Amino acid sequence: MYAPTSTNSPRSGPTSGDDDALTDFDGAGEILRAWGNGLRPDPDLTVSQWADRHRMLSGRASAEPGRYRTVRTPYMREIMDRLSPGDPSQRVVFMKAAQVGATEAGNNWIGFAIHQAPGPMLAVQPTVELAKRNSRQRIDPLIDESPELRERVKPARSRDAGNTMLSKEFAGGILIMTGANSAVGLRSTPARYIFLDEVDAYPASADEEGDPVTLAEARSLTFAHRRKVLLVSTPTIRGLSRIEREYEASDQRRFHVPCPHCGAMQWLKFDRLRWQKGRPETAEYHCEGCDTPIAEHHKTAMLEGGEWRATATAADPTTVGYHLSALYSPIGWLSWERIVRAWDAAQGSDEAIKAFRNTILGETWVETGEAPDWQRLYDRRERWTSGTVPAGGRIRTCRSDDARGPCSAFGECEVCRSLPPSTPPSRTTSTRNAASPAETSSRPTAPPLSPSGAVFAQDNGQAPCPS
Ligand SMILES: [Zn+2]
Repeated sequence: MYAPTSTNSPRSGPTSGDDDALTDFDGAGEILRAWGNGLRPDPDLTVSQWADRHRMLSGRASAEPGRYRTVRTPYMREIMDRLSPGDPSQRVVFMKAAQVGATEAGNNWIGFAIHQAPGPMLAVQPTVELAKRNSRQRIDPLIDESPELRERVKPARSRDAGNTMLSKEFAGGILIMTGANSAVGLRSTPARYIFLDEVDAYPASADEEGDPVTLAEARSLTFAHRRKVLLVSTPTIRGLSRIEREYEASDQRRFHVPCPHCGAMQWLKFDRLRWQKGRPETAEYHCEGCDTPIAEHHKTAMLEGGEWRATATAADPTTVGYHLSALYSPIGWLSWERIVRAWDAAQGSDEAIKAFRNTILGETWVETGEAPDWQRLYDRRERWTSGTVPAGGRIRTCRSDDARGPCSAFGECEVCRSLPPSTPPSRTTSTRNAASPAETSSRPTAPPLSPSGAVFAQDNGQAPCPS
């Protein structure tokens, strides 16, 4: 398929006498051809071009078995091609909804690396158990169904082949699969390619040895500009979400698609989807430019005409970031109508709306309820002269969370009683858990004032009284 280029091919035409002498023996042609092939650089294929030529989707792992076609999910083309050796990007961040085809794109990258640009590769799932399942359900079919991969990866049956469920050896490289909960797995070997899948489900620390993403990425540093790191996840909770943090530090690309009516380029937002109450089947997208309704059947052409556009400047220019909601899901996967049905069904349940935001919009969920609203707390401050107890104050509490000095005024005791009312305990520190003055004074169960006028409430049941 890949004809040797003229610069690397053995010369076949008339040559000078010296050259003829060098190649004038039986089998010289084959040797020169093999030599030429060895010198030939890697074909300048991108990951998406490779996938369209070589990737077969298995009936075991895919809803649409057969040849992989990038045109089915055109938004994945640029993301995949950032992972090609010819692209200068080193880190690719993809914050996404479910059902947009991200897993297959990641598998295309693995297949491309095995076939076209071999090197050590580390693929990390949230846990070792999930890594085993992924190996069985995704990686084995990937290799089995594509002849070019099958002939390069040693069969699992031969015990000495270095090929187990979590390790696939191939000419020029090895694919190691592990879980983010295993520090040993994460520091197994240097890796040119690192695929970090579902990073928002990773534990905060791998075996108490630190952030799994940092541990894994450290494996790639020796490969410098040749390294490629792919971080993919459906996001979870704002403030805790790794993928959102990474996306926000990136150039924050959005997939802009053309309106079929006025041509205005725009990225799709849930609040532009409109429908008649109680009739999800009437869902249509309203163009930002002309406000004309866009029906579902326009989606295919819109995706084909779409392009990624950066909306921010990346902190690190070798990182590119992508966000995609299920509003882009191709026809036959998740329709706008089903998205509306899911939204309607989620009403009334915070958990269901959280799942909707995470898995369909690909956005984080903002925790409310128990979490203190800092502004509400901040607004309740009162001006208070140092060293005095305000009128109405009946309980004084103090907490200290630093090591600079003792704060031992918890519980009623002789030491505490002996303090004059105008002298607060040393290093009084109000913390987020201490009751505000207003709350304290209105507490109906407040104990009576001690003889000194100061009562120290023991508020955690653990801090010992010093005496
Ligand atoms: Zn329009």
